[in-house]
Order: sequence, then structure tokens, then C-alpha cells
Amino acid sequence: MHSLQDCTASPESKEAMPQLSRYELLEQERITQQIAEEQQTFRNELASLNVDGTRKWIYPQETQGRYTAARNIVAYILLGFLCAAPFIRVYDNPLIMLNILERKFIVFGVVFWPQDFYLVVLGLLTFILGIAVFTSILGRIWCGWTCPQTIFLEFVFRRIERWIEGNARQRIAFDKAPMNLRKLARKALKHSVFFVLSWILCNVFLAYIIGVEELFRIITEPPSQHIGGLTAMVVCSGLFYGVFARFREQACFIACPYGRFMSALVYPETLAVTYDFKRGEPRRRPSRADKQETITEPRGDCIDCGQCVSVCPTGIDIRNGIQLECVNCTACIDACDSVMRKIRKPIGLIRYASLQAIQQGRSSYLTPRVKGYVAILLVMITVFTALFLRRPQTEAVVLRQPGTLFQRVADDKIANFYTVQVINKTFQPKTLEVRIVEPQQATLIALTDNRTVPAQHVWHGRFLIVLPATVLYNPSTTITLAVLTDATLVKEVKTTFVAPVQ
Ligand code: SF4
Ligand code: SF4
Repeated sequence: MHSLQDCTASPESKEAMPQLSRYELLEQERITQQIAEEQQTFRNELASLNVDGTRKWIYPQETQGRYTAARNIVAYILLGFLCAAPFIRVYDNPLIMLNILERKFIVFGVVFWPQDFYLVVLGLLTFILGIAVFTSILGRIWCGWTCPQTIFLEFVFRRIERWIEGNARQRIAFDKAPMNLRKLARKALKHSVFFVLSWILCNVFLAYIIGVEELFRIITEPPSQHIGGLTAMVVCSGLFYGVFARFREQACFIACPYGRFMSALVYPETLAVTYDFKRGEPRRRPSRADKQETITEPRGDCIDCGQCVSVCPTGIDIRNGIQLECVNCTACIDACDSVMRKIRKPIGLIRYASLQAIQQGRSSYLTPRVKGYVAILLVMITVFTALFLRRPQTEAVVLRQPGTLFQRVADDKIANFYTVQVINKTFQPKTLEVRIVEPQQATLIALTDNRTVPAQHVWHGRFLIVLPATVLYNPSTTITLAVLTDATLVKEVKTTFVAPVQ
């Protein structure tokens, strides 16, 4: 990480841009001040905090350019997917459901039952390691391009804010203006829209956790039947509203554990949004002297216009080097590229590059550490795939009916009730059969007519086992049952049969 604290801004700014409007000059002044503050404090303080610890509200300008266009496409595809996934059905199951409460997870239509929890844990660990590997090679690509927090904040909530309150400059003026009826109405409109959106988001979020059917029941049935569900809905909507209306970028620095791991995961070889200080420094604003060609000192390509700072959603100056707050959103790349085009210099003064590539002109992304990570990741993926492919496709549990003992039936016979639970993880329905292996004298009477276990479902049935009292010498006798689906043995089960003491 390089430090450019000694690269101060030129004092000739106003002279340099005589054609700017009054508003643009004010904005330029604001950015200049922001940059000066940031250069003084970027190592010690967050850019979004004042010296006294109070919040400095960030008003990022909108960007245009190739990365913005690409991020728009990615964001809207992901938004569509995130909102639709719990509602899309595959074999009568949601495409994705993460029911933590019941430990039932559905990923792309494949159901992981509580019995498969070891696979969920292993899959989660593999996913986390995968992110670590991607981070060491591609930096915070997750944060800037795919994190739901970034996508909802930048592509939904901030856009609505812009429609209602205007661009960055207008929003600053609007917030500074005294409260009046017009301002109150606009603020009320914005926050009402934010809350409705948060409520919708909360519903989608709950659909991932409890499933669409349960969510629909909470919404449509009398509130008295779903006090817990409705409380969760209100709390969750309030949380989303708080995060997107107020907490915003602070979530990335303070709440997100991933951001905290950054310093441990990135290296000089990691690809990141980086300022090419070799090309950009010494920075200097254009002035009238430029036209008269009286400048002799060396100068870099950075004209210290501050555009990269004004578009940054976390308020930092990327020219100070890689920082904790940078979410690699690429807004500063597009902003700087447009400045470079205007001043007829090559684009890419800020670009995706590693620090090593900037310093040495070349970089090797496959370092020994990355190779080690990749090797471990491959092992974990292999183990996960093997365990996933070998997991039993049908599982059965047979239990004596809880709370029952025995029943005396005709001809001096004793009966016990049993329940059978069959999990069919396949995509085809299965026909269930339970047979008695021993003792031979036992008879099985099925109490559930329909013995078809639907695909990807859990089936519950009940049956009765009857034994002549004459063969029961003990209060508890072990019996063996065979559970079959489609005439294939799933499991042999040993259970107990209770009888009165003779
Ligand atoms: S420094 Fe650039 S890439 Fe990083 S958060 Fe700010 S605008 Fe985005
Ligand atoms: S946008 Fe480019 S030229 Fe302008 S200050 Fe940032 S790095 Fe320098």
C-alpha cells in the first residue's frame, strides 16, 4: 500500500476552470475540501465520520461508463434472481430455501434434509474458502458486484433517492435547506417508499427461510394465529429499512465480517481497483500557465479533479491506496476514464490491477499461497461431491407410536402401534412396503392406505403389529422389519414390541 499524503492539491483550481457554473464551482470546492480532509486522516479515521465521531453523510455522484453499464446488467439479473428464487418451483419445491429453523435446505431444487446437515456444513465451508480464494486473486469482487447489500443500496434505494431528491448536488442543498412543507412531503415520500420496499424485501427474505406457503399463511390468516411470524416480519422490515435508509455503507465497515477479513486475504498481487500512482503523480490541476506553456516541473496524468472521490459510495480517495472501505465498485474507474477522455489521455489511470503490477509493470496472480488455497478448495469440492453422490436417496425411520404401550385384541393377541417416516430424496415417487422379518408369527396391518411417497418429500404412515400372547415371554421383544421402496430394501430396522408381563 502506498501513501501519497505529501501530494497536496494545487491552489489554482478556480483559475483553471473559468467556464464552470457557480454550482459547479461550489461542488468543486466541496470535493477539494473532502479530498484535503481525507488526505489528512485516511489512515486514522473512516471517510464517512467527522473528527468528533459523528456521521459524515455521503452523497455519491452518479457515474456512466463501461463498468457502470456492466454492473447494471449484473445487478438487475441478480436482483431478479434473488427476488424470484424462493417462488420458482422445481419438482414442487422452491428453487432455493434456507430453512435454518428446521435445518432443511433446498439449493437449485436439491433438498438437503436434517440428515444431510453434514453436507450443508461442508458446503458452507467450501463456499467460504471459495470466497477466500476469489478474494486473494480478484480482491473484493464479491462486494462491488454481487453482494446483496451493494446491489439493493446502489441499484434500488439510492436510485429512488435520486428520483425523489435529485442528484448529489441537489441532495446536499436539499438536506441543508430549512424544513418546509415541500421538503417534508419529499422526505415523507422517500421514507414511505423505502419502508414499503423494506417490507417487500423482508417478505422475500422470509420466503427463503420459512418457504412461500408459510409466508402466505402469515399474511392471509388472522394475525392472532401468527404473532411470532408477524413480529419477525415487523422487526425484519425495520432492520432492512434502517440499513438502507440510514446505516448504508457503514454496514460494510462495521457489521460485515467479510470486510474485516480483507487485510488478511489481499496481497500485493491481488487484483483490485487501484490508482496508477506512477502514471498519475505528481498530480496537478490545469491552470492558465498550461496554455502559456510555462510549466517546467514534472507532472502526472492526474489533474486532481476529485471526480473519483465524488462518485465513491464510501467517500474515500482511492489515490491513497487500497483501503478497508473500498468495496471495489469501480465507480471511480468510470469517473476517471471519462476525465481522461476529456483531457485526451489514455484511460485506466484508475483500473483493475494489482499493486505489484503498478509498481513493477507485471504481476503474477498465481502465487504459492493462492495455489495452496486452490489445492485445498479442490480437495473440499471433491470430498463434498463424493459425499453428495453417495448420500442415501431414501431413508426410513420406524418408531413405536410415542405414548402407547400395547393393546389386547381378539384371540388373545397383543398389538403395538408403529409410525414410519420415509424421506424420498429422488425426483420420482416411490411405493413403500414394510415387511416383517422376524418373529415369523407376527402380522402387520397397515393403517395408511396411500403408500406412495412423492418425490423430494417426507412421508408419514402408521401400522399395527399383532403377535399371539403365547409367544411373548418377556415384556419387551425385539422385532425386525424390512422397509422397501419399489421392492428395493432401504433399511432393516430393529424395534421393540411391548407386552403385558405373563
Ligand atoms: S474507491 Fe473506487 S472502487 Fe473503491 S469504493 Fe470508492 S468508488 Fe468504489
Ligand atoms: S478522477 Fe482521475 S484525474 Fe480526477 S482526481 Fe481522480 S485520479 Fe485524478
